[in-house]
Amino acid sequence: MRLTPNTYVALTGGLAAALGLALHLHGFDNASGGRSATVAAAAAAATAAERPHAPAPAAAPVPVPVLVTPEARAAAGPPDADAVRPALTGALALTTADSLLEEPYRVGEERRVVRVGSGDTLLAVMARAGVPRGEAHALVAALEEVYDPRDLQVGQEITLVLAHAGYGARLTGLELMPDVERHVVITSGAGGGFVAEEAANALETRLVAAGGRIEGSLAASTGASGVPYRVLDPLIRAFSYSVDFQRDIQPGDAFEILFERDFHPDGEIARDGGVVYARLNLGERDLAVYRFETGDGAVDYYDRDGQSVRRALLRTPVDGARLSSGYGMRRHPILGYSRMHQGVDFAAAAGTPIFAAGDGVVEVIGHNGGYGNYVRIRHNRTMSTAYGHMRRFASGLAQGSRVRQGDVIGYVGSTGLSTGPHLHYEVHVNGTQVNPLSVDLPVGRILEGAELVAFREAVAERDRRYAALTGTTQVAETPAD
Ligand SMILES: [Zn+2]
Repeated sequence: MRLTPNTYVALTGGLAAALGLALHLHGFDNASGGRSATVAAAAAAATAAERPHAPAPAAAPVPVPVLVTPEARAAAGPPDADAVRPALTGALALTTADSLLEEPYRVGEERRVVRVGSGDTLLAVMARAGVPRGEAHALVAALEEVYDPRDLQVGQEITLVLAHAGYGARLTGLELMPDVERHVVITSGAGGGFVAEEAANALETRLVAAGGRIEGSLAASTGASGVPYRVLDPLIRAFSYSVDFQRDIQPGDAFEILFERDFHPDGEIARDGGVVYARLNLGERDLAVYRFETGDGAVDYYDRDGQSVRRALLRTPVDGARLSSGYGMRRHPILGYSRMHQGVDFAAAAGTPIFAAGDGVVEVIGHNGGYGNYVRIRHNRTMSTAYGHMRRFASGLAQGSRVRQGDVIGYVGSTGLSTGPHLHYEVHVNGTQVNPLSVDLPVGRILEGAELVAFREAVAERDRRYAALTGTTQVAETPAD
């Protein structure tokens, strides 16, 4: 069975209205893979239609010399042997004072989109388009007032604005978008030169919903439904405190994602933003996370109950214990020489229960040299905890077992290199032991008071938005586990 994941986009903005804007800035985001010629043409047509004062782009060159205006001829200047070439129609094209491009017969304004190639410069791009050198240099000089042309990226789109006058055309402007935040518009100034202006892009943020069954990996399934990996990555981190993505994801599990996407006024995708809501249905476990900004400006993911997904590790994973040996160099009580103590010791009566310091998966369980009976739990991609000298393990606990914070994983003993009953406890970050008492462990925050009220409103709103976008009336009612 394979259910096709779907993507839904909230069309909260008037696309037609957006298309009516005079400026068409072309995105170069990787999500859309660039604008297709058809879309570009449609957008150009829409632009023209909304701007009655602008001449409509000519559908095809009309080879009727009688239509060449006297002004155009005057602008073109006297014929010059180097510049005379046959036009496509066989008629002679007369260009070209230095400021004119050689073009098939055409009148009116044209917006020509060109792309920056590998090793390209703006001058080269303009030269390819036929812009005379003097004009190109003047334009680059103007551009440099607001933007360094060396920052152009391969594949970036540049819009040349051409005013056609018969067989010649004049470059009257250029537009480019250095990044999704801003655009640069160059127009010919009153004195004949060029003037560059920079302005912020009017981006509209909409919510995009995606959902479906998981086939293979979560990344593959969400990717198939149109969720870019870069959207998914922070989400995986948010779930990693409670989900082991190697083991917990099974075929048929389901996901829901609501994420932000910024659009340009013409409806093109500018960039993808953050995930505001996500849900994983993993058989019996149903996990939802909601992004929320607290009053202090901290942004984090919380479960449906308002508890941060960051689960703080227990600092003392054994009941009624006292710290008997700290982290750092010490004289080993049995070996007799100084060496690094890579964890902390908690003295406790033999048989005292030892708790999992956080949610996770048992990665190692068994006898382990000087550690004696040893358990290591992986909590997320970076963090593990280890427990040594146990008398015995909790019954049923095995490699791969999932544990929740506070679950009993074993009992205090004195196995391995140990002088008496105690728990040797280690915290590993990226495979290296750190001091459990000083490491900046993730702090699991629990919302309360006015913030909890605001959070609940946000949760209800996100659920409504997701349901509205996907057309489902089934809103997740399952409590977060
Ligand atoms: Zn120790």
